[in-house]
Amino acid sequence: MRLLLIEDDRMIGESVRKGLRQDGFTVDWVQDGRSGETALLEGVHDLLLLDLGLPGKEGIEVLKTLRKKGNMIPVLILTARDALADRVGGLSAGADDYLIKPFDFEELAARIHAILRRKSGRTETLMRHGPVTLDPASRHVTLNGNPVNLSAREFALLEALLDRPGTVLSVPQLEEKIYGWNEEVGSNAVEVHIHALRKKLGADLIRNVRGVGYVIHKVS
Ligand code: CA
Repeated sequence: MRLLLIEDDRMIGESVRKGLRQDGFTVDWVQDGRSGETALLEGVHDLLLLDLGLPGKEGIEVLKTLRKKGNMIPVLILTARDALADRVGGLSAGADDYLIKPFDFEELAARIHAILRRKSGRTETLMRHGPVTLDPASRHVTLNGNPVNLSAREFALLEALLDRPGTVLSVPQLEEKIYGWNEEVGSNAVEVHIHALRKKLGADLIRNVRGVGYVIHKVS
């Protein structure tokens, strides 16, 4: 899953980005509201982590503009302890949740997973597909109950496909899911990862739609 972080505090920004990357998220980070809006135009992020006190354009204004344009990306607000009015204002402006600084990193990750789960309409924490399960929080994948070792990119690809069963995702769309800014995408990278996933999880799970992309079909 690919996240956008808008946070002007360098220390918080660095540590959140580092921690979330270790947790397997793809994270892009900008430090002011306007740059955040520009980044959101790409439409590639699954969730926005939004600080409220920002230079250029306040977080709450960024959020209001987003929602006014009909952009329904999930938003998790990061805010200071004493700003009750900000938290209420954020939620009524269309944020999905908020977290008070300083926050515990595990709580941040847990809330992100919960929001993403609600967004995709899943009621259980595990993603399931036939004999395959994927746990976004613990990053465990199993096949017929047996653990399967995936690389970080393989995991991200599988998660992107399982999150939208029945939807064909093109190679550029999949690249956008698993690579952030300034990360070099090797040629045929997606194909190489798909090949590895098929070897580990069976040839039938991920289907190629010639000339269009890849899909995991819904289990009927
Ligand atoms: Ca700030």
